[in-house]
Amino acid sequence: GIESLTVFYGTVRDYIDPHYAKDSYYKQSSGKENCFFSIIHGKIHRNKELLSDENSIAKGMKKMKKYLKTPRVLRRATLLAMLPVFFLAGCGQKTECEKSIDTAMGTVISQTVYVTGNSATTTNSKINEKITDVLLQKLNDLEQKELSWRLESAEVARINAAAGEGQNSVSPAMAEWLGRCRQISEESAGAFDVSIGRLSRLWDIDTWAAAGDSGDYELPRQEEIAEALATTGWQKIQLEQQADGDSVSIPAEMQLDLGAVGKGVALDEILKTLEAHPEVSGAVISVGGSILTYGSKPEGGAWQIAVTDPLDPSESVGVLTLDGGHCVSTSGDYERYVEVDGVRYHHILDPRTGSPAHSDVAGVTIVTKDGFLSDALSTACFVLGQEEGQQLLEKYDAEGLFIDHEGTITMTEGMRQYFHLSNSQK
Ligand code: AMP
Ligand code: MG
Repeated sequence: GIESLTVFYGTVRDYIDPHYAKDSYYKQSSGKENCFFSIIHGKIHRNKELLSDENSIAKGMKKMKKYLKTPRVLRRATLLAMLPVFFLAGCGQKTECEKSIDTAMGTVISQTVYVTGNSATTTNSKINEKITDVLLQKLNDLEQKELSWRLESAEVARINAAAGEGQNSVSPAMAEWLGRCRQISEESAGAFDVSIGRLSRLWDIDTWAAAGDSGDYELPRQEEIAEALATTGWQKIQLEQQADGDSVSIPAEMQLDLGAVGKGVALDEILKTLEAHPEVSGAVISVGGSILTYGSKPEGGAWQIAVTDPLDPSESVGVLTLDGGHCVSTSGDYERYVEVDGVRYHHILDPRTGSPAHSDVAGVTIVTKDGFLSDALSTACFVLGQEEGQQLLEKYDAEGLFIDHEGTITMTEGMRQYFHLSNSQK
């Protein structure tokens, strides 16, 4: 349906959620061939104006669909071979496939869910809701109520607004996430640090990369970087646990940014929801390239997840073959970046320098059974580099595949059972 295609601008890579649409996006999109369409509360907007007449809506939709057929980001997120819609699962049970592509949390969500029952359609109509819609709603809630630093309604934004004002009560979930972040900061010697909010606002790579045009981008000045850097430091985040609940306080200048774990948290939420829906027999869900495999495929066999080639993101270096219950997260310098005078500035910052991280890693993919962990570790390993990254992974019993700037692949022992090179590389 129309509702599910939320926003499109330029290529699929440039999908932007309405919540993320800053004025700068609008400015940059106007006067260009590619327009910015959004569907908010069922109404189509083009740039900022409401598209009211049927003709322009139809044109917009056509364009949107055309772009959807040439997904770039999706290529890596998407799974090979999942085309059939109906399957017979024995005992007269039928499996039906629900697929959707949406945007939420400022990124592309692609879902493939298999629903099995005596009559899959009946099962669906009984709950009277598509499971893909239920999951999408979860992600929007997560963003709006907890993770966003942009939306006032979100817990992270509230913590940031109350910086320097002492302890602030937080939800048990937020307390748990912040506690786990702290542990990973400690284990990674500060390479992973969610207190980099001011630095990431200063660099603002996410915004500029999404806008798809870095022509007017200005690099932050060294003094600005130093100033923002001085506000960071995971040790200064104070978590307290009391009988009446959890609370957190951050220093006056500090701002939190949970961007490094948001997609992983989303996968954990999705897993819980899927487990509460026994009619779901299998699923593979991608939240901006972080992927959850769940259950099994109707035709049997493991899930196949492509690993993007960081040197040529339109290609994959190989495939991960995974059973249900795995989370795959990737961090790479090709995901969100701007280019200034031929130099690439990407979105993962080194909290030791305040600038985009320069390790020997161009892309790293982590496999674990826990979304939060896979996401946090992918960011941490990207900053740490291959050798220290692998040491970190050992502590967490996680598997990792590292690709350096020459395209050389290194992986943990356990990753070998999952990873197969692409045919062209054999
Ligand atoms: P990911 O794509 O999962 O590697 O996360 C990258 C996002 O995490 C960035 O867009 C920032 O919001 C945030 N981030 C960047 N550098 C760091 C870092 N060193 N530690 C924690 N979060 C970071
Ligand atoms: Mg991450």
